Formats: sequence, C-alpha cells, structure tokens
Amino acid sequence: MTIRALVWGENVHERKNRVVAQIYPQGMHQAIADALNADPAIRAGTATLDQPGHGITPQRLAQTDVLLWWGHAAHGDVSDAVTDMVCNAVWSGMGAIFLHSAHFSKPFRRLMGAPCNLTWREAGERERLWLTTRNHPIAAGLPDHFELENEEMYGEPFGVPEPLETVFVSWFQGGEVFRSGLTWRRGAGNVFYFRPGHETYPTYHDATVQTVLRNAVTWAHNPAPRLADPGAAPNVPVARALEPITERGPRLHHDGEDGLR
Ligand code: ZN
Repeated sequence: MTIRALVWGENVHERKNRVVAQIYPQGMHQAIADALNADPAIRAGTATLDQPGHGITPQRLAQTDVLLWWGHAAHGDVSDAVTDMVCNAVWSGMGAIFLHSAHFSKPFRRLMGAPCNLTWREAGERERLWLTTRNHPIAAGLPDHFELENEEMYGEPFGVPEPLETVFVSWFQGGEVFRSGLTWRRGAGNVFYFRPGHETYPTYHDATVQTVLRNAVTWAHNPAPRLADPGAAPNVPVARALEPITERGPRLHHDGEDGLR
C-alpha cells in the first residue's frame, strides 16, 4: 500500500531570502517531498500558502494519509477555515507531522491546546540528537546519536502537553537541551513533532534527517478508514440504554436533541 503524503510549506523565506533560496531552490516543501519520494512506499506531493485555499481542500485532505507542515514567517496568514479542516482531518485519522518552527503554527497549537512556546537562539550551533529508545519505528535504522553541524537552538521548557512518547532529545553547543522528537494521538490521528529544520541551514538535505522523515510518515499513517464525524456527540435516550434503566430527577434536555456546544 502506498502512503500518500502531502508536504505543506509556507514558501516565504525561500522567495525572499537569498541564503534560503540557494539551499532550497525549489522550496523546502519540495526538498522534503523529494526525500520522502525516495521511499517507493511513499508518494509525496506539495502544497503552499500562496495557492488558493493554501493548497488545502477537503478533497485533498481526504486523499492524504499523512500531512507534513513547515511554517515560520506566516503562521498568522493561515486561515481559520484551513486550520479547522486540518484539525478535523487529524481527529478523523489523518497523520500529521509538524516540523521545526511549525510548533507555533495554528493547527499544531490547536491540536496541542497549549502555548507550544520554547527558548531559542539563531547562532549556527551544533545540535546532537539522541535516541531515547532504539526500537521506536521513527528511529529505525538510526545510530544512537547523530549531529547537525549548524542549527538554530530550541531549548526547554517546551510548552506542549506531556507526549505519548519522546523519541529524540537534543543537546546544543550552548548547553540547552530540548525534546526534539515527540508523539501524540489526537482523536484517531497520530501526531509527530520533529525539531530540526531552520531554513538558513541545509538540514532537510541531511541523510539521517531524511530517514527520520520517511520513518515518521510510515509511523503516522493510520490505515483504518477515516471517522466520518470525529466531533459527533450523540444523545443516547433512556429507551436506548443497553440495560433497562428508569429515568430519575429533573432534566434540561429532550431525547435525541443535539445538545449544547
Ligand atoms: Zn528556525
């Protein structure tokens, strides 16, 4: 079975900053999609902020098994309608991978329900990532640790809910540490956050990083059919209770009504 991935990139700094454009002449989203397409089991396409509807439609999401999201300069330009659509798709079973500065993206903050803040420094420091477990699928084929010679520093505390699993922790030359690979389940969807990927460094050309991305797509894919209405909250009247019960006490609601939201 081919896993259908969609790499969403805001594609702003690639067009405005010469350094970024030289590292990613086709855009970061295309570099990431190319890395994913090196796995014959993954078929990755791209979408960008400047396309109509940011390149995200209900039809496109319905045909996406795993969405990858990179944004930095234009989080505020992402519409609430697209944010709603992405979160609903995750709750119904689509996998989602948020990369680097996407910790502040609208869909990630909505899914986490937390500030998602951190400390940071742009000084080209060496980042050393350590596996916390050798047998996690996202760490398959990786050494116990690997290094990126130049990266932006992200430091703890990272304002996210306690993850399901911590797959990587990072050390930076300046002394900070950071939980750089974290998983959650949101509704029926698998969510992964992966820290590296500052746009002025060639991080997504790194072979080990590319392995992590391919592993993460495979891990995040939920092969079960999507839930049709992941936010449904149906009323179950007394007459339809599994065991016979007698209604007691006063009540606000009528049988079968939609309820309050
Ligand atoms: Zn950055």
